Amino acid sequence: MDNPQMKTEAKSELFRKLPSVDELVRSPQFGTLLEEHGATALTDAIRSVIGRLREQISSGLLDGAGLRLALEGLNGAVEARLRSVLSYSLRPVINATGVILHTNLGRAPLAEHALAHVREVGHSYSNLEFDIEAGERGKRDVHVDRLFRKLLADAGSTGEGTSSTVSTIVVNNNAAAVLLALNTLAEGGEVIVSRGELVEIGGSFRIPDVMAKSGATLREVGTTNRTRIGDYERAINERTRLLLRVHRSNFEITGFTEQASIGELKELARRCGIPLMEDLGSGALVDLEKFGIQGEATVLDSLRGGVDVVTYSGDKLLGGPQAGLLSGRSEVIARMRANSLFRALRVDKMTYAALEASLLAYVKHEYGKVPALRMMSLSKEAIGVRAEAIAGRVQSRTVKIEVIDGESVIGGGAAPSSVLPTRLLAVTCTGVSADELSDRLRKSDPPVIARVEEGRVLLDLRTVFPEQDHLIADALQHVA
Ligand SMILES: *Cc1c(COP(=O)(O)O)cnc(C)c1O
Repeated sequence: MDNPQMKTEAKSELFRKLPSVDELVRSPQFGTLLEEHGATALTDAIRSVIGRLREQISSGLLDGAGLRLALEGLNGAVEARLRSVLSYSLRPVINATGVILHTNLGRAPLAEHALAHVREVGHSYSNLEFDIEAGERGKRDVHVDRLFRKLLADAGSTGEGTSSTVSTIVVNNNAAAVLLALNTLAEGGEVIVSRGELVEIGGSFRIPDVMAKSGATLREVGTTNRTRIGDYERAINERTRLLLRVHRSNFEITGFTEQASIGELKELARRCGIPLMEDLGSGALVDLEKFGIQGEATVLDSLRGGVDVVTYSGDKLLGGPQAGLLSGRSEVIARMRANSLFRALRVDKMTYAALEASLLAYVKHEYGKVPALRMMSLSKEAIGVRAEAIAGRVQSRTVKIEVIDGESVIGGGAAPSSVLPTRLLAVTCTGVSADELSDRLRKSDPPVIARVEEGRVLLDLRTVFPEQDHLIADALQHVA
């Protein structure tokens, strides 16, 4: 077969053996698939499978025997192709990482009642922008603003005597909220930020970049580890439009450090007649100490502290849908909603529905309904019991499972140093590396996402819904 001429002849012989796509579509062999998926999808799938065989022949990867085998398995290949093309790409996975707000895994899972409300509102027409009482056009923000007012009610009064109402508007995510706030309050002017707060969150959100896009100029003050109120004061000039405080979210600065307090910033802002904004990021609506998380400032803390507008995410500590929230003094928020950027960044009815339902759980103090909060409040003991039950169910000579102490983290750029004690399933398998084992778990159906540490696969049930426990046991049973 070294002769290239002969090779070409052998190849053209093989090409001749490839059946025609049109004939295959009409052949009884594909009758069932034709009925199930229709002629268009079936033709595409057959064409793609035959096309791949053609490529393999021409690159010399298929000989006569190989082709015969491939043609015998044609039905299976076409069916697999149809399945992969016509099935969903976005699908549920089991999060066994113990990271509650895992950005790659969709951050906060939605509450059951929130999903029911999304279904109810998305399924039919709704009063999204319609005032039923008055029979005229309404505003979409009213549906959640009323609940935010309740939750943030005592923010205005405890300030400095000048009580003002708090309003909240919703945009697509917190990055959009920051962009809208900076553009509204500081376009063409300067914004003063501490060098210790020029953060990057999750790769694509960087304070200096968002600032540039907003049309405002960043004025950095202080140093990475120390910024005093005097640094801000000296930087103020006639172009200054805003003082910005940014929550460090995913890192901490310890040691020889200093940060101006919100109180000092508020005092300076009032004295100079400049608004004060805080990008809080995580957006806790209640004190999370009862869920085991220490030192995480709430939205109410910011507002009480005298911040004019605070921005935060809907799908971090709030535990709702992806959204960016801007809460603050009504007259400041009114300027944001009058900005044409607000129209470009607004969210749809499904987000409002999910957010309204999530907020209602807070209003009614039904925190257990919000999955992220429920996961935080799980005790190490309760997680341990479930872990032991799974370990007891897996019968294998090669798979070894231990239940050990460990730590879960919040994730999503919230409470970076807060960890929750947990119990972990530590899995090893004879003759299979930890990386390979975690690969196999990820490729099981549904995919199980775990951590690998020190040559073991670790699974944390804190982020696994109890009704998924048997799926973890199945996956572990079949992983060897
Ligand atoms: C998470 C975070 C953001 C980005 O929020 P998204 O909702 O992901 O757009 C911005 N700022 C801070 C401080 C954050 O923690």
